[in-house]
Amino acid sequence: MPMNKQWLLASRPRGAPSVDNFRLVESPVPAIGPGEVLVRNHYMSLDPYMRMRMDDAKSYAAPQPLDEVMQGGTVGEVVASNNPAFAIGDKVVGRLGWQLFARSDGTGLGKVDATRVPLSAYLGAVGMPGVTAWWGVNGIIEPKAGETVVVSAASGAVGAVAGQLAKFRGCRVVGVAGGPRKCEAVVEEFGFDACVDYKAGNLAGDLAAATPEGIDGYFENVGGAVLDAVLARVNAFARIAVCGLIASYSGAPIPVNNFRSVLVNRLKIQGFIISEHPDIWPKALAELGELVAGGRIRYRETVAQGIESAPEAFIGLLQGRNFGKQLVKLV
Ligand code: NDP
Repeated sequence: MPMNKQWLLASRPRGAPSVDNFRLVESPVPAIGPGEVLVRNHYMSLDPYMRMRMDDAKSYAAPQPLDEVMQGGTVGEVVASNNPAFAIGDKVVGRLGWQLFARSDGTGLGKVDATRVPLSAYLGAVGMPGVTAWWGVNGIIEPKAGETVVVSAASGAVGAVAGQLAKFRGCRVVGVAGGPRKCEAVVEEFGFDACVDYKAGNLAGDLAAATPEGIDGYFENVGGAVLDAVLARVNAFARIAVCGLIASYSGAPIPVNNFRSVLVNRLKIQGFIISEHPDIWPKALAELGELVAGGRIRYRETVAQGIESAPEAFIGLLQGRNFGKQLVKLV
């Protein structure tokens, strides 16, 4: 009889999370009832937003409940089905959480074609992070050819796709990433025009050198010092898509010294949560699927092995130890 393994949230972190905030439990694989399917997860997605949901605080979504399975995106395979919409062997994407097996009535479960793009890509460039990049660029920043767009966390799941989409629109695209290894990949692999290493100690100067004509669009993933440096370089009527503020998720303050720039440059700053835009997902996923299948969008993955590795990998994601989409491989 195979056993299920699940990670529960055991306690709420104060500041940076630790492995003690999670608890691994084993239980028999659940039996399915009428209309249900059993899914064996192949990959779990680890995402920065999970840190925010570990807090019992007012936010755009309810907190992750204590002593329940950590919520999160998954891809896997249907291994038993009492639901006519799903057959054994179907590959599915869903939000089945940090566990090996999950029962589902099919709600929120989508079939995917793993022969066209790798199954794991449905959690990255052809999944939620890709759609996030697509909407931030095409729906909010809407850059014109010749404009300069800056993308922070540029080597990551969202940032790498955002920069490549802005390049397709004919922009000069400048990434911001931590360390020379990531910066090199942002330019050489993902085709950005330049990348600023914000850890190199000369953020303002390096950003100025990389954006000689100022900044017209900013895809914000981190907040903090990078946001401040960008505000000092923006052109009049620049657009900022506030996608994420990872530098603050564990409670660090976000000092902004250059807020005056918002007024002086008549900026448009728009925060967004991609799950609140279900209407754009089909179009975005179709486009991203074509681009990834055709090799026109490239991406990196960091794959932790085995469900036991999930908390450490998640902590690493919040510290920038990942290089591209952070996944946990379960099969
Ligand atoms: P990434 O793959 O980009 O991984 C996170 C990266 O953030 C790290 O690798 C690290 O890169 C960088 N980082 C971590 N801490 C800091 C810090 N203190 N200062 C600067 N950079 C830091 O993650 P995702 O692509 O999945 O997510 C990127 C952002 O998009 C997150 O803020 C996330 O919350 C947000 N997001 C928002 C969505 C929405 O609907 N609004 C949906 C999906 C994601 P480096 O080494 O370069 O510092």
